[in-house]
Amino acid sequence: MESWSPANVPALKIGEPVPLSLYDASRQSVEPTEGSSMYVCGITPYDATHLGHAATMLTFDLVNRIWRDNGLYVEYVQNVTDIDDPLLERAQRDSEDWVVLAMRETALFREDMEALRIIPPSFYVGAVESIPTIAEQVAGLLDRDIAYRMDDGTGDLYYDLSKAPHFGYESHLTRLEMLDFFAERGGDPGRIGKRDELDPLLWRGAREGEPAWPGGALGPGRPGWHVECAVIAQTLLGPQIAVQGGGSDLLFPHHEMSAAHAESLSGKAPFARHYTHAGMIGLDGEKMSKSKGNLVFVSRLRADHVDSMAVRLALFADHYRTDREWTDELLKTAEQRLARWREAAAARSGPDGLAVLAAVRAALSRDLDTPAALAAVDAWADAALAGDGTDESAPDIVKNAVDTLLGIEL
Ligand code: ZN
Repeated sequence: MESWSPANVPALKIGEPVPLSLYDASRQSVEPTEGSSMYVCGITPYDATHLGHAATMLTFDLVNRIWRDNGLYVEYVQNVTDIDDPLLERAQRDSEDWVVLAMRETALFREDMEALRIIPPSFYVGAVESIPTIAEQVAGLLDRDIAYRMDDGTGDLYYDLSKAPHFGYESHLTRLEMLDFFAERGGDPGRIGKRDELDPLLWRGAREGEPAWPGGALGPGRPGWHVECAVIAQTLLGPQIAVQGGGSDLLFPHHEMSAAHAESLSGKAPFARHYTHAGMIGLDGEKMSKSKGNLVFVSRLRADHVDSMAVRLALFADHYRTDREWTDELLKTAEQRLARWREAAAARSGPDGLAVLAAVRAALSRDLDTPAALAAVDAWADAALAGDGTDESAPDIVKNAVDTLLGIEL
């Protein structure tokens, strides 16, 4: 699948880059990143990109930018789940062709990503185009009795969690918590005939009225979501990756199951060195989600002529791991900050630019501490606008630092 157009990311070539440390859910601590391969779970394209998606994509865009600043070659893969139950349900509700719906929403997502100046992935991969590879990998699990077929004639295949020795290491949840999340987030704990209630679906046998693809030894059908990500990630990035990213609602079951699948397929653990999650964005005291219908769309803000750079700044105002609220006040503050930074960047001189660059690098390297990075630029902008400082190179240095590291064009 086609990715979106690249953002211009000027190399800084001055000062000292700082290596990135990031929170890892499996170790429950902030640890240095090792390597520079990243897989971020993408959208299921049945609705437009909302600010929750944007916050997640922006979080991992910072990871990408810091790695690049450190001179690392970043291998970044993102998927688009262009076949899954929610997509089919929405298409049916709106009497629309699911393929047309998926294509339209994926195109809109790409536009939103470009507007937000998010560096595109090296590979942007659809589930549908990956089906032959996924089917082949699942067949391997079936041969090894790690996958099993339901005997109810559906042709559905499940993953046997008792064959996953490390299961639970990513989320650290109790079994009861797992069961709750599993039921809430697309799992089927109540399905009769599974070896364990938590066993996740690997392959859904063909059903009347649903799209299906040839699955070779599996029979016709379509893949489950967790195995889709595991196979796409490993095919393009190898058996082990540096960072598995997504929103915090993917902590369980999605990332736990994907990791288990990936580790069964490759025999290598852990699948990812870091499992990192962006917090949820709420509106009026509630998590922004499709089921609640309280979504703020990036495309809506663009249509209202909101500067995408202000959206970036608004979502960077608090730390990526905190659940936070989208408010008019938050956007207004970001717009004011953006205007002030632009004014300061156009000044003739200011206080030491290299010191600001060092402060922004240091803040971001500490688990993406954007509030501290923004505070450093704020302090510099205030001083520059007050006429303090005689460093004539400072406005350009700060402008480039903000562009390259925070993705904000002044
Ligand atoms: Zn995923």
